[in-house]
Amino acid sequence: MSSIAVVNAGSSSIKFAIYGVADAPTLRLKGLIEGIGATPRARLSDAGGGVLLKEDLPPQGFDHAAATQTMMRLVAPWLDGHDISAVGHRVVHGGGEFAAPVVLTPESAERLAAFIPLAPLHQPHNLAVIRAMLAAHPDLPQVACFDTAFHQTQPPLAQAFALPRKYAADGIRRYGFHGISYEYVTGRLKALAPEIASGRVVVAHLGNGASLCAVMDGRSVATTMGFTAADGLMMGTRCGAIDPGVLVHMIDQYGMGARELEDLIYRQSGLLGVSGLSSDMRTLRAADDPAAKEAIALFVYRILREIGSLAAALGGLDALVFTAGIGENDAKTRAEVAAGCAWLGLELDEPANLRGDLTISAPDSRIAVFVIPTNEELEIARSVMRLMSDR
Ligand code: AMP
Repeated sequence: MSSIAVVNAGSSSIKFAIYGVADAPTLRLKGLIEGIGATPRARLSDAGGGVLLKEDLPPQGFDHAAATQTMMRLVAPWLDGHDISAVGHRVVHGGGEFAAPVVLTPESAERLAAFIPLAPLHQPHNLAVIRAMLAAHPDLPQVACFDTAFHQTQPPLAQAFALPRKYAADGIRRYGFHGISYEYVTGRLKALAPEIASGRVVVAHLGNGASLCAVMDGRSVATTMGFTAADGLMMGTRCGAIDPGVLVHMIDQYGMGARELEDLIYRQSGLLGVSGLSSDMRTLRAADDPAAKEAIALFVYRILREIGSLAAALGGLDALVFTAGIGENDAKTRAEVAAGCAWLGLELDEPANLRGDLTISAPDSRIAVFVIPTNEELEIARSVMRLMSDR
């Protein structure tokens, strides 16, 4: 038996997971290297979350390539002879080109570099790890799985901005993100309730990043994120959809530059900006502060407005699925969203919602409501297995 490594690289961290592969991937190890560029440290745990090791790493010259080598060094003693036979990378942007996971070559890895301007906060770090892996382990197959790929099925109207045409030719259009999570969740829904999965579904990925996806017969037809992962819902620290004129006003009246605007809309806004307290839903729920309550109210209001928009894109709604940190764990947010969807005929089974059951809609609700925990790492491991068995 062999193993698959799943790697998710961010600007200052690399999250990874090791899956044993037999008939299906089985989680064996989970790890995190964080503080890249500052005070790097590593943690490795077993499948049950039991900590196997913690290590402080030398800060000097510790970049994503060094972190990649460290990851391979740290996991080696715990593989029990199940050597890593392939690596799956989460890549945020596949542009208009990649509609499915792909086995990387040095050439295709370089094609991904063309999308750096489309996702400057993530793509360079995804690529740094891919390049380091390709250089150090040229015989180890590397698979890229894209956050954008699931949304390639959106019709052209859903992808368009009402800008002059020439900009679309430069790739300025709506792409959508969280696609690996949507792929996993819609796959689970299909296994659990195939007749509902073949209908009109809105999946609500509500975590620190948050988006909604309108899914028809298992395929994305519209989503709230667009050209970047800053659009759509209010998030932990991102503002979501905003009148574009506000940004022009910020430039004119506050003399803001591109980096300041980026900091404002990605890191200072959302739940954090409105509450002035925290980006974390648990902290806000526990707080008595009226600003915290207002932040949550706006978060829910934006979700309700966007559910209405996606229901219109779908021509109706048969099911709503909650996933990610808030969607899976915060019964209050689910109850507030459900209350705002009563006009659609949605009725919650309150005890089931409080328990966080898989099905939380009342028996005679016109819309079925589910809580399906997402698992992006497992989805990537499955994609790697599929591609490897096709080779
Ligand atoms: P994610 O980005 O998917 O890890 O989700 C992070 C968000 O989920 C944060 O806002 C957390 O506060 C929220 N979250 C996690 N667990 C809970 C919980 N038990 N109750 C409320 N919110 C939670």
